[in-house]
Amino acid sequence: MEARQFKPYIIVIGLMVLTSVVLAFTVDVTMSAEAGIQVYLPSRVQDWVGREVLYCQNPEHQRTYFAEELSNRSVCPDCGAELFMMSVDERRVLPPDTIIHKKQYLHPSGENVVASIVLSGADRSSIHRPELCLTGQGQSIQRSWTHEVSLPGREPLQIMVLDMRRRWRDRDGVEHVHPFYYAYWFVGQNRETHSHYGRMLWMAYDRIVHNVAHRWAYIAVTGARNDDYVEQIENFIQTIYPQMALN
Ligand SMILES: [Zn+2]
Repeated sequence: MEARQFKPYIIVIGLMVLTSVVLAFTVDVTMSAEAGIQVYLPSRVQDWVGREVLYCQNPEHQRTYFAEELSNRSVCPDCGAELFMMSVDERRVLPPDTIIHKKQYLHPSGENVVASIVLSGADRSSIHRPELCLTGQGQSIQRSWTHEVSLPGREPLQIMVLDMRRRWRDRDGVEHVHPFYYAYWFVGQNRETHSHYGRMLWMAYDRIVHNVAHRWAYIAVTGARNDDYVEQIENFIQTIYPQMALN
C-alpha cells in the first residue's frame, strides 16, 4: 500500500486521539438534533412513483411490503408480526433511535430505484462506512468513483458512486448477474461530504472546535446499472435534493 493511502487514516486516528483527550477534559458535548436535512422522500420524482417499504420483523418470514398497499401498516398481513421501516438485520445492528426512511420508486418503463435516508441516533454510531455493509452474500464492488451533480444556485454536490454486482444461483443452478449502482453522500449541520473519512474529520472537528456532536444523515440512491445510469442518478438527485432541503 502506498504511503499516500495511509494519510487519511493517520489524520483520522490523530484527530480521534485528540478528540478523546479533549473529551476527557470537557464536561459534556452538546448533542444537536438537526442534521441539516429533512428526513423526507417525495412520493413522486418526475415520472417515478415512490412507495414506502416496510419490513416484516418475523425472522422466519422477513418479507417486504409497500405501505400504500396495506390497510394496517403496522402488522404483517401474512404472519401477523410487527412491520417496521427497517429490516430485521438493520434493526439488530443499529441503535434504536436511528431513523430510516426508504422508498422504492417505480418508473412506467418498469425500472426501479430505491432511495433511503438514515439519520444517526444519539450515540452517532448508526452510520457505518457503506462499503462494509454492502459487500458479501454474492455482492461485490467493481469500482468506486466520485461524481459531481450540478444543482442550481450552488456548487455541485459531490457524491460517491459504487459500481456493484450481485451474483446468485437459482434453483436450477443457473448463475445470474445483476449489475447495479449505489450512490451516496452524507449531510450534517452545514456540512456535506461524499466521503466517510471526510465525515469523520468533520465530526472530530465539530467536537473539538465547537464542542458539538451533530446528527448526520446518510442519503443513498440505488438502481440497475443500465447504459444511462449516470444520467439517472443525476436526474434523480437533482429532483429530490431541493425537496429534502431545510426551509
Ligand atoms: Zn410476516
